[in-house]
Amino acid sequence: VAFDQDTFSFGIDLGGTSLRVALFDSGIKLMSSHRLSTRVADGPDAVIADMADCVRSLLHAAPPRHHLLGIGIGSPGPLNFELGTLGTLPNFPGWDGFPLRDSLQQATGLPVYLENDANAAAAAEWKMGAGKTAMVDNLAVITIGTGLGSGLILDGRIWHGMVGMGGELGHASIDRNGPACGCGSRGCLETYASAQGLLRLARAEAQLPHASQPFRELMQLRPSCTPRDIAHLAEAGDASARRSFEQLGEYLGFGLASLISTLDLPLIVVGGGVATAWDLFAPAMFTAIHCHSLVYRLGAPTQRHTMEHNRTFIRPAELGPSAGLLGAALLPALLGPTGRNGSATGTDVQ
Ligand SMILES: [Zn+2]
Repeated sequence: VAFDQDTFSFGIDLGGTSLRVALFDSGIKLMSSHRLSTRVADGPDAVIADMADCVRSLLHAAPPRHHLLGIGIGSPGPLNFELGTLGTLPNFPGWDGFPLRDSLQQATGLPVYLENDANAAAAAEWKMGAGKTAMVDNLAVITIGTGLGSGLILDGRIWHGMVGMGGELGHASIDRNGPACGCGSRGCLETYASAQGLLRLARAEAQLPHASQPFRELMQLRPSCTPRDIAHLAEAGDASARRSFEQLGEYLGFGLASLISTLDLPLIVVGGGVATAWDLFAPAMFTAIHCHSLVYRLGAPTQRHTMEHNRTFIRPAELGPSAGLLGAALLPALLGPTGRNGSATGTDVQ
């Protein structure tokens, strides 16, 4: 993506609890930003008004003469990309079908580019993180948080599929008899490889006769315990806590093995809050991938840290929790007319 000098774009990260609006320069360097809570219960028009207020206030931080490419917004899915509308979002009751793109465009007078949050994070890792390091235009980015989000970049384009849910690895089932998932299926990868999945695996582990006392206490006496609490115990050497992360790694590896066997990608990036415990789950993940994918065995790197051509690398994300916001800010350049044919559009501010 080539940026003109003094070119700016906005990135908006719409979450169920918080809303971030930020202004970025041509190198996607953060100029200034606002963070506020998302007024979900006040309805979409109130939240659009908040976004537009932030955009206007941040414009004062931009130099007097500049070119604005537009606004990129990362939203939870499902989305209708053609219409720029929301589908039915579990954490946004009453917002079904809301025309997010057009409403924000009307409220700000700027071109708006809509993407789902997992795809926005994938775009950021592609252009500015692990994908840039590896110099590839084909990759999958898995974000393991409360759930499991994923985005696919194929031949340098974000892959949406037909109904806009392409690359949703979180709802690929890896066990038809597994736990029930919110999507209506059973044994979805997300029911294992997510914060919720880890807690479920750990609670089962705590029931076993050989479970350690501290682990039992954590899982039974502290209903609000988090993956971080389990990671702390695991890092201190607790066998049950370590086993919980290993199981997450095995299930994740099993899911990634199918992805690799299907697409034969050079890079899979694993990020999100739970993925910061990389050392606790990655060895089991690699063993499972090796076991279950012939394609991976044919393309496995011969060295762990040096990037090699025509090999499948599985790497931790490089960008951290701001990936979604950075990716949103990249959208005007990636999806706008500038990104497609080189003729700049947007708004010149004199
Ligand atoms: Zn599911």
